Amino acid sequence: MTTRTAAAAARATVYGYPRQGQGRELKKAIEGYWNGRVTADGLRSTAAELRRANWQELAGAGIHEVPTGDFSYYDHVLDTTVMVGAIPDRHRGAVDADALDGYFAMARGTQDVAPLEMTKWFDTNYHYLVPELSPDTVFTADSGQQVAELREALALGLTARPVLVGPVTYLLLAKPAPGVAADFDPLTLLDRLLPVYAEILADLRAAGAEWTQLDEPALVADRTPAELNAAARAYRDLGALTDRPKLLVASYFDQLGDALPVLAKAPVDGLALDFAEASAANLDALAAVGGLPGKRLVAGMVNGRNIWVNDMEKSLATLGTLLGLADRVDVAASCSLLHVPLDAAAERDIAPQILRWLAFARQKTAEIVTLAKGLAQGTDAIAAELAANRADLASRTGSRITHDPAVRARTGAVTEANARRSQPYAERAAAQRAHLGLPLLPTTTIGSFPQTGELRAARADLRTGRIDTDGYEERVKAEIQEVISFQEKAGLDVLVHGEAERNDMVQYFAEQLTGYLATRHGWVQSYGTRYVRPPILAGDISRPEAMTVRWTSYAQSLTAKPVKGMLTGPVTMLAWSFVRDDQPLGETARQVALALRDEVNDLEAAGTSVIQVDEPALRETLPLRTADHAGYLAWATEAFRLTTGGVRPDTQIHTHMCYAEFGDIVQAIDDLDADVISLEAARSHMQVARELAEHGYPREAGPGVYDIHSPRVPSGAEVAALLRKGLEAIPVARLWVNPDCGLKTRGWPETRASLENLVGAARVVRAELSPS
Ligand code: GLN
Ligand code: ZN
Repeated sequence: MTTRTAAAAARATVYGYPRQGQGRELKKAIEGYWNGRVTADGLRSTAAELRRANWQELAGAGIHEVPTGDFSYYDHVLDTTVMVGAIPDRHRGAVDADALDGYFAMARGTQDVAPLEMTKWFDTNYHYLVPELSPDTVFTADSGQQVAELREALALGLTARPVLVGPVTYLLLAKPAPGVAADFDPLTLLDRLLPVYAEILADLRAAGAEWTQLDEPALVADRTPAELNAAARAYRDLGALTDRPKLLVASYFDQLGDALPVLAKAPVDGLALDFAEASAANLDALAAVGGLPGKRLVAGMVNGRNIWVNDMEKSLATLGTLLGLADRVDVAASCSLLHVPLDAAAERDIAPQILRWLAFARQKTAEIVTLAKGLAQGTDAIAAELAANRADLASRTGSRITHDPAVRARTGAVTEANARRSQPYAERAAAQRAHLGLPLLPTTTIGSFPQTGELRAARADLRTGRIDTDGYEERVKAEIQEVISFQEKAGLDVLVHGEAERNDMVQYFAEQLTGYLATRHGWVQSYGTRYVRPPILAGDISRPEAMTVRWTSYAQSLTAKPVKGMLTGPVTMLAWSFVRDDQPLGETARQVALALRDEVNDLEAAGTSVIQVDEPALRETLPLRTADHAGYLAWATEAFRLTTGGVRPDTQIHTHMCYAEFGDIVQAIDDLDADVISLEAARSHMQVARELAEHGYPREAGPGVYDIHSPRVPSGAEVAALLRKGLEAIPVARLWVNPDCGLKTRGWPETRASLENLVGAARVVRAELSPS
């Protein structure tokens, strides 16, 4: 192994590319198919055309080895489920009747059968469909789609590398099928799954694959010795196969840690590591195992899930170090480019001096190619690109947008006391009780009311100029009136204005904060055909003027009951955006928190006595490695307390989170020091209430008693039963009555009926408590 040959061989590759097409053609074709406007053949040919366009674009840009199998009609984990034949029993009939319809039935459910559960793909905002496995699962190889896509790419004369979800990650992402004991460990199926992978690898080899990539991102999280052993066994067995392509095992999103020595020892032909998000750790670990002699190393240099231009000199320096550590070093993005929008050049509304800081999938591809060229031919060969990159980075560092002295002065002056309420909880609670005069078991909602077609039409009319701002505001006000009058009639205790004016809980605030950018075409797949356009948190954050006060005040003017102010918290504002990478996240969070703190204080000054700061993303942004949890939770909880710490003791701070599994962050929830927290609990029958109680949670809580995820109306008796269950865990003086989450996706009829039942149930249970 010599440095020179490793360098000369350096090639450029990616693991995956945005699937949707320039004009989101895939979304249109799939939804058209669902509506019966597009035939199955029509959908297939659109898909094949999009794949071809992607490969040719990549190859044309200088990517030496294009990925295949990264395309999907819905989700690549679901595709893996099909590939290994792990179709749940309840979907078997649909799949046998028609493979495509059966596939969508698994993804979306049908009238009669529930879909697979969906959850977040590691710490990204992409959602995958969770495999359901049982001790009886029989795997069967179905390499059809993988082989077909490989052939398509090869037929174009391209060098192509199939990309598959690896067997260990597949099993680690699976859960026990419904009806199977919760402690069933899908990893016990590994020995049954490996022969199926062997068969698929043989098929790919026969179809012309020189290399195949097996993605094992699950190995970047903390893994037990048993799980690491499973990985060792899997790659020993797959590596020992004679009839197989060369195997590249890919990791991304973090460092491989203990899994690195395991994979380095395995008889596989290459490893892909993330040098964008875990550079130092992976470098150290590689050096510690003595490099990867005899193996190919694919270096994920370009961050595959953020949108900032790469620091090419830094990347080249790392690549230089890596040359001494493997037989061959190739350059890639850190993960699939699925997680970034397609093309920054399409953004006409972003000023050119800012646009040059941004790299979407197309720009990242060019960076990868440039880095590979620099590595293979020396930096002289990319002198012009390096100079331009240096200038782009300098313009970002030196910009007033990224360095606003006023914002810096403010964050610099933050003291520990700013992030603390002026009185301890017990004293605040008494002051709030006196101030608000609420009944026992107070009823409220989480904030949003149904986003009706009329509201969306009004927003569209405003965009296209059919109505002006005044006309739009009239429509929003009319909606607020309706929401307030309904809540009064229904008898709720703490009202909300309904969030009619909000398109999205992050975008609404991002649009009003200085330092955030909006994109026009920056779509990223969230799940299936749902694409989102995350705002870009590009600069120092400040709030030019109040963002919500007039809506809340208007709502308050219509009623004598308290109206709750409603804000999105700093952690969620970061989690659902593309966040700047040029300073620690905690610093960015602190800026956002100070802007939100001003809003909280303005709401209070305008007479709002109850203010809710939503943090649904607090749990999902938890780092993959336990060792990183404490650091994250420290800045995250500080940002929340900084947002809410400036109010009077008698102003009641609420927060809301959307999930039920929060056992591992219950201390952090406590550290938020919110007076009231509402959580999802209806489906898990108040599990959350019990967990809070076990922790000794000292403040008020509203575990949801109405599951808002379906149009089903819970009866008063059901809600009352859940409330009584809640009372077993949480003392009556501290229990709130509310739905699981916001009502924006619900229709009015079920919302009305459900909330009436909820108020009725609260009255029944109150009467049981004080029969007099
Ligand atoms: N206040 C928001 C709503 O009701 C909260 C939504 C959320 O946390 N996801 O819509
Ligand atoms: Zn929620």
